[in-house]
Amino acid sequence: MNKLVKVLSNGVEIPVIGFGTFKIPEGEDVIAAVSSALELGYRHIDTAAIYKNERGVGEAIRMSGLDRSSIFLTTKVWNDDRGYEQTLAAFEASIDRLGVDYLDLYLIHWPKEREQNRETWRALEQLYRDGRVRSIGVSNFKEHHLSDLLEYATIKPMVNQVEFHPLLQQTALHEYCYGEQIELEAWSPLMQGDVNACPEVAMLADVYDKSPAQIILRWHVQKGIITLPKTVTPARMKENLAVFDFSLSHEDMYLMNKLNREKRIGPDPDEITF
Ligand code: NDP
Repeated sequence: MNKLVKVLSNGVEIPVIGFGTFKIPEGEDVIAAVSSALELGYRHIDTAAIYKNERGVGEAIRMSGLDRSSIFLTTKVWNDDRGYEQTLAAFEASIDRLGVDYLDLYLIHWPKEREQNRETWRALEQLYRDGRVRSIGVSNFKEHHLSDLLEYATIKPMVNQVEFHPLLQQTALHEYCYGEQIELEAWSPLMQGDVNACPEVAMLADVYDKSPAQIILRWHVQKGIITLPKTVTPARMKENLAVFDFSLSHEDMYLMNKLNREKRIGPDPDEITF
């Protein structure tokens, strides 16, 4: 249970706790944050073209002196770049900004209608076949988007990155992905910082002598979910990674599971307007 990595369906290892970079500004801010994260032991960084901080993420990776192969790096193709040729061009632009020659994971950021999903996926498959990316996946795909994709895909997505936290557990989607060997990754795992939203979490934090964020992240890990907490605060980076020296009991896992309200903080993928 205390494993730091999971193995994707294609055999690629992925650290179960990644470092989220949404809303961390390009330049000094993201360089400082990612540098601290790498120094504190994170080996999985999640960015996206739309976060507009890929240059700084790449810079911090180079400055760390760590082997590129020791870091799992994800970025995502933004909605304006969906389509086969557009996605291939967006990929080149992303790796150019990052200053790397391959990605560990490339994701379709949000689903659209069938034809656009299909053409975008075809580009990701091409990048995978060409060895430019070690794994490919999707983000914000509901079950109907995935089942549709599986009809035309020749390579199954290895990952689906979705909003996931105590108040939004996406149980049916999680089971579906599990059945298809698609790993679920959690975005906004800490409810965008509202870690005290549930008194039960605070109660468990007291019982285990851990912080509410650690209870939530430990629960993710025990559920087999890859999780991507974001923080610019080094003490929190350390805290969020320190969840491998305790286990939640079966009863307490159940208590956490019961907190689900299917309540989204972010948009519903079927209703996005961007
Ligand atoms: P999170 O749930 O990770 O919450 C981030 C907030 O929590 C920040 O305000 C941070 O504060 C605070 N925080 C972090 N650690 C702690 C702690 N230990 N105790 C108390 N507060 C804490 O939200 P995000 O929305 O950033 O999601 C995480 C990542 O998921 C993103 O950064 C991004 O990489 C990815 N993502 C993907 C999306 C997608 O569509 N695929 C959509 C949204 C996010 P501070 O920084 O001030 O310390």
